[in-house]
Amino acid sequence: MSNIAEPKKIVTPPTPNYIWSILSMHCPRCRRGPMFKDANPFRKLTLGHIFDMPDRCAVCNQKFDLEPGFWYGTGYVSYGLAVGLSFATFALWWLFVGISVSDNRVFWWLIVNAITLLALQPWLMRLSRSIYIRFFVRYDPHYEHTAPVKFD
Ligand SMILES: [Zn+2]
Repeated sequence: MSNIAEPKKIVTPPTPNYIWSILSMHCPRCRRGPMFKDANPFRKLTLGHIFDMPDRCAVCNQKFDLEPGFWYGTGYVSYGLAVGLSFATFALWWLFVGISVSDNRVFWWLIVNAITLLALQPWLMRLSRSIYIRFFVRYDPHYEHTAPVKFD
């Protein structure tokens, strides 16, 4: 064993996928640390459980709640997601069931769509946060050596 330090090899691990990191609700900065304590939002249907986040990312120390009231803006994201999802279910309904003015099929779509949105709500609320924070915190491949994003 020589006591001369070997030159440090710089190994860059592959960048976790952007879309996947949003859907799997991982930290926007390192894409490795989970944003929620329990990965399953449906385990307990209370807001306390659905929004149970660690204060900081366990991997890169990024603070999630960047300032008091930071998450209010997720309302817009959540609205956009609901509208987008409704368009998607409408398109699928049109394709597989059909839309007609002579019967109630369009009302059945309304009911099915409402139930779908309601059932997915815990996941959609988390997804909104996961998307929203990405407007403020970008992926940083050198997260180990740089400071987390902060609001002044
Ligand atoms: Zn992180």
